[in-house]
Amino acid sequence: MRFKSPYIVFSAPSGGGKTTVVKLLTEKYPEMVISVSATTRPKRPGEVNGVDYHFITKQEFENLIKKGRFLEYEQVHGHYYGTLKEHVDNHIKNNKVVLFDIDVNGALSIKRHYPEAILIFLKPPSEEELIKRLKQRRTETEESINRRLKRLPFEYEQAKKFDHVIVNDDLQNTIKEIEKRILISGE
Ligand code: ADP
Ligand code: 5GP
Repeated sequence: MRFKSPYIVFSAPSGGGKTTVVKLLTEKYPEMVISVSATTRPKRPGEVNGVDYHFITKQEFENLIKKGRFLEYEQVHGHYYGTLKEHVDNHIKNNKVVLFDIDVNGALSIKRHYPEAILIFLKPPSEEELIKRLKQRRTETEESINRRLKRLPFEYEQAKKFDHVIVNDDLQNTIKEIEKRILISGE
């Protein structure tokens, strides 16, 4: 196998670069797939149901919780987000390497289920740069940005339990640093 693990989990503060990094990796490595989470958060302009998330209602989400269909789920920034077990199992059956873009609690849950999972925390170069990127993305209101920033100290504390912390400064360099941690060397 070219990869050290079929489970590669990315967490970062909101705006830290998870979506960007995961997209670049799947474009580069055809054997990689993104785990598409379910969420009750409203769709942002440009997001596609089934591609970015499975957008479902709170009632649907709570039904899936009752049925035990989630590998893990959390409430983040006031909405439910969760990983459906069946989806991950199907990817693994198809010999895929699954990339997760999930919050720090979810990442640690995945590690409990799959101890071989590699947990990578993407750290922004600074809080100022993070705010700049969030503003540039133009998807959040001022209030939503503030809510997201409040979670930073908790996220940095949890990051200590991750396998790797990588500063996402220059994007190409970030990809290189990730590759060092997930590819079996010599390939
Ligand atoms: P997340 O998914 O963690 O919330 P995104 O991938 O949406 O973060 O990134 C937030 C914004 O920052 C996006 O506009 C993205 O284009 C930009 N961005 C991501 N990584 C970098 C980087 N290394 N350098 C500059 N801008 C970046
Ligand atoms: P956003 O609303 O910006 O897309 O995501 C908000 C946060 O929820 C991010 O930290 C993202 O990684 C996290 N998230 C997305 N999907 C899941 C999931 O399935 N489980 C968990 N625990 N967190 C998720």
